[in-house]
Amino acid sequence: MRCEQFRELISAYIERSIASPLAAKMDEHAAGCASCRAELEDVRRLWQMMAEAKRVEPPASLHSRIMQEVYASVPTTPAVRWWELAWRPRFVFAAAAVLAVLAIVMWSHNMQTDAIALSVVSDGGSPVSPVATSTLPTRFEPFLTDSGDLRWMLKMHASRPTSVEVVAGAQTVWSGSVAQQTTTVLPAVPQGTVLDVRVAWDGSNALRAWLPAEISQEQRKPVLVLKQRSIEETLAHIARAYGAPLVLVGETDPLTRVNLESSGVALEQMLTKLAEKLNLQISRAEDGTIVLTAR
Ligand SMILES: [Zn+2]
Repeated sequence: MRCEQFRELISAYIERSIASPLAAKMDEHAAGCASCRAELEDVRRLWQMMAEAKRVEPPASLHSRIMQEVYASVPTTPAVRWWELAWRPRFVFAAAAVLAVLAIVMWSHNMQTDAIALSVVSDGGSPVSPVATSTLPTRFEPFLTDSGDLRWMLKMHASRPTSVEVVAGAQTVWSGSVAQQTTTVLPAVPQGTVLDVRVAWDGSNALRAWLPAEISQEQRKPVLVLKQRSIEETLAHIARAYGAPLVLVGETDPLTRVNLESSGVALEQMLTKLAEKLNLQISRAEDGTIVLTAR
């Protein structure tokens, strides 16, 4: 048996869904080939982690909320915040089949390298078109308090009076009109989490940021195993795991679900793959913050 053949059959072998003569050949190959044996162990370990990963159940109210929206005769006012758009009819129809599951699988078979295998499965449905977004010049600046905790400051700058609302977590921390420059100190981020910040302006424009409790100086390459997460949950996880702030401009399909497995992957590489599969554009703000824009 050749190594390529062995590797193609690893999943079936672990599942014990291959015929025993073939399984015997695989035992034999694994016994004599250290690199395939290592690969087999890596895949087993990932499967184990996948099995232990927390399962995310849809909220019980999901169905009734969808049905309410489907039968609602009149759409709500146009000045709705972008994250509320998720429950408006066109989104519901776009995902009514709710079968639009986007699976991203990125893993490194060899945990020592940063190799990525990536595949996307989409079962019907289509992404919703993003709301037109013009970027409000914003800047998230980290600073250390006297006690050594990291805090974030939001600096906004608008060339004309612009009505802005800033929500951090579930709490509105600032709302009003920005003309020229406004600075807001955001609430503290609990250790090991991210601060989820939404900045909405002029009714339909929005950006969202995930600001970690600590910024990693060295380049982290964490192991990530995520199942059935929304795009936004996925980005929040990445920001925390890598210790890097992430900003999303515009709107992504709230019902898309992402499966992600990776190990030994640098942040840039991770985001490049995600951006490609989720149709996001990556750029860097002048302070180095990574900005993803929904297209
Ligand atoms: Zn081999």
